[in-house]
Amino acid sequence: MSKRPLGQHFLHEKTAIQKIVDSAQITPQDYVLEIGPGRGAITGELCQRAARVIAVELDKNLARQLKRYPNLEVVEGDILRLDLAQLLGQPAPNLPLAQRRWKVVANLPYYITTPIIEKLLLEGHAYFQSLVIMIQKEVAQRLQALACRQSGALSYFVNYYARPQILFTVKPGSFSPPPQVDSSVLALYPYAAPPVPAPAPALQRLTRAAFAMRRKTLAKSLQGLANSLKADLPLALERAQISGQKRPEELTLDDFSRLALALEKTIAPKEGQE
Ligand code: SAM
Repeated sequence: MSKRPLGQHFLHEKTAIQKIVDSAQITPQDYVLEIGPGRGAITGELCQRAARVIAVELDKNLARQLKRYPNLEVVEGDILRLDLAQLLGQPAPNLPLAQRRWKVVANLPYYITTPIIEKLLLEGHAYFQSLVIMIQKEVAQRLQALACRQSGALSYFVNYYARPQILFTVKPGSFSPPPQVDSSVLALYPYAAPPVPAPAPALQRLTRAAFAMRRKTLAKSLQGLANSLKADLPLALERAQISGQKRPEELTLDDFSRLALALEKTIAPKEGQE
């Protein structure tokens, strides 16, 4: 992948910029979080359309050179280290999706795509009505793909919180300097509630363990996790009605959810808790 420091590939193609901002369907009531405004290619358009924009930029020089707008707040910092509740205020509890004011729009730095998406969904799923993000095309395809060869742990994590939809592809020539790969603009539409009952940490632990050894059968790849939890893997697989001979990419989100719950139920009680 790119050797650019901080994933700095600046978008210069006007049509792509317009398409990204149009896709976010920003209304004058919306608040927008932009990650990595860079030289402000998207920022100006966002400020024209939204009530308020917070732009988080790690590169101090770029942050200081950004053109200012009355409704723009520039935060110099690392998105991965910022507390979203401090940045955006507390989310209103149980707000229906349509009434959520925050939207994310970002041409993400590709070297940290995964941790940024994890943070935005884990910490921020209750804030956002939608997230429109540019990422590597191959990663976008993986996030849309469940129960197939392209699937990875992040695919299940994302689909637990949101419905992903690839909107369009952007070629390297639209950036300066051009990256080595095609990019896709991906929309994530958070769910009001997760579509399956397993708690997020249990699901994430399970999918990570399974995909860490994706070519191995579940009976092998999950034994380490089961041991560390003091859980009974064969019993959990049986109760979840999943063959231990399957590979992780054959499982649906619902399969992983059933297995995560079944595994938790087989955890041996700690001494003194019996
Ligand atoms: N939005 C601009 C555009 O479309 O031209 C720039 C996009 S560029 C792909 C990614 C931007 O993210 C860069 O400006 C980079 O400095 C910034 N960045 C990299 N790591 C970051 C981090 N951890 N937190 C916030 N911004 C970061």
